[in-house]
Amino acid sequence: MTDNDKPKSNFIRDIIDEHNKSGRFEGRVHTRFPPEPNGYLHIGHAASICLNFGIAEAYGGLCNLRFDDTNPAKEEQEYIDAITHDVKWLGYDWGDRLYFASDYFDELYEMAQQLIREGKAYVDELSPEEMREYRGTLTKPGKDSPYRNRSAEENLELFEKMKNGGFKAGEAVLRAKIDMSSGNMNMRDPAMYRILDAHHPRTGDKWKIYPMYDFAHGQSDSIEGITHSICTLEYADHRPLYDWYLHNIEIFHPQQIEFARINVTYTILSKRKLIQLVQEGHVTGWDDPRMPTIAGLRRRGYTPDSIRNFADGVGVSKSNGVVEIQQLEYYARQNLNTTSNRVMAVLNPLKLVIENYPDDLVEHMEAVNNPEDELAGKRTVPFSKTLYIEHDDFMEDPPKKFYRLAPGREVRLRYGYYVTCTDVIKDDEGNITELRCSYDPETKGGYAPDGRRVKATLHWVSADHAIQAEARLYNHLFTAEFPDKDADKDFLEFLNPDSLLVLDPIYVEPSVQNAKAGDRFQFERLAYFAVDPDSTPEKLVFNRTVTLRDQWKKIQKKKKK
Ligand code: ATP
Ligand code: MG
Repeated sequence: MTDNDKPKSNFIRDIIDEHNKSGRFEGRVHTRFPPEPNGYLHIGHAASICLNFGIAEAYGGLCNLRFDDTNPAKEEQEYIDAITHDVKWLGYDWGDRLYFASDYFDELYEMAQQLIREGKAYVDELSPEEMREYRGTLTKPGKDSPYRNRSAEENLELFEKMKNGGFKAGEAVLRAKIDMSSGNMNMRDPAMYRILDAHHPRTGDKWKIYPMYDFAHGQSDSIEGITHSICTLEYADHRPLYDWYLHNIEIFHPQQIEFARINVTYTILSKRKLIQLVQEGHVTGWDDPRMPTIAGLRRRGYTPDSIRNFADGVGVSKSNGVVEIQQLEYYARQNLNTTSNRVMAVLNPLKLVIENYPDDLVEHMEAVNNPEDELAGKRTVPFSKTLYIEHDDFMEDPPKKFYRLAPGREVRLRYGYYVTCTDVIKDDEGNITELRCSYDPETKGGYAPDGRRVKATLHWVSADHAIQAEARLYNHLFTAEFPDKDADKDFLEFLNPDSLLVLDPIYVEPSVQNAKAGDRFQFERLAYFAVDPDSTPEKLVFNRTVTLRDQWKKIQKKKKK
């Protein structure tokens, strides 16, 4: 049983169980994932997606996808498309329930009129600076605006004037009339509508005014019949406001439940900063494989399952915790181990010539595609006189614990033969350029009939048959665990100059010849790799997803000590 098979109980499920017992929502469980289309989704969003869709699935309920598109100044169709694509790719289905807060602009406008009519909202014409001043501070209560006691008729007229473009941006705001001395700043007559001179991706130029996120979010949930509005902790202080709107407008009241955002080490999850990385060209785009975005992780070679398992593994919590990036890598490795075919590839080639192997002989050695999956079958790999092995797998003067190839030593070439190093060839500067070996023809397939053992098995490719490709090796995007923790420092200072290392050419066994973008492999003994969309028919490009070495378990052990 793996970590992700365990049904996880958590405080959110406890609340839902309680509701189901008391009959609060008649046993209904309806959640939603509510992104604002102002950037691409990242791994933190993935946690929220898995949580919302996962809970609906677990309770036989439904989960909507709803775009909270209330700020046209920052929102774009490109983001809407990317987000829907990513949620689908993660394997979730919102059926016919793809919604937009902008679908509700008419209804929201009517709700605002309703509050105005009941004397619970007013049009304020204080300047933005004055409004700030009147608002007070955490320690000082605010002051009532001189416009606060306008009549309902006057407010209705002015609100309509706002809608029709009779005011410029910043000249008038519709505010809820709540309490300027509330200890909760969100309750000090919060703005409901502001004037924005912007083209909306969906409503075009129809509206001059747009509802504030806080005026749209709770009511959108209510309109959709959402039972459990799961959101992140920073909205706990907004909950009384959402409650106030729902109560005063007198509509269906979902239960808001807050959980902690996840933060992942060696990366950033702030959309504003991710946009900056893209716009300033620190990365090649939203889908740069170093980005913590779903698009980046996909291109890097992550599977949807690995991301879902990660989200399950991390779970939900009520206090902000840190997630090691190695935990994300762990789930990638765990999933790729069972799903990706093995091939042999040499990243740093060293030529190896088998002197007693016939010049023109090519043998097609049988190789297992995936020892974790019997159905993955077998393939053949060509073996010949001249091979490449990994430079690191040879040492002329090996230290005690180095068991791989060395002068006079015999090792196994995986699926090939036992070979013994007989000579080392160097250039004028003393660099090793080639090894000469002999092989034992009795050891075909890599096993000695006399039972003699070797201490190492090396991967290899046949020099004449291998295809040349490019490998992109990624490291953490930042050198600091928390690049944006220190407010005095620019997070860009911590960009890792070695986050990308390109190796070109590398040599890969010919079976990958027709691989397509997105195909995933394990390069034996090295790492998992995925074919990048930059690949051409002439040259494949491989992204290193993760190496084979697990670092997360090690970190956990160290932490326990
Ligand atoms: P902003 O609202 O500042 O644009 P955001 O990261 O909150 O940025 P949203 O589009 O509002 O982005 O997020 C959609 C959903 O994903 C929200 O419910 C939000 O709480 C959740 N979410 C965002 N970041 C994380 C995170 N790091 N961990 C868990 N959930 C997250
Ligand atoms: Mg948000």
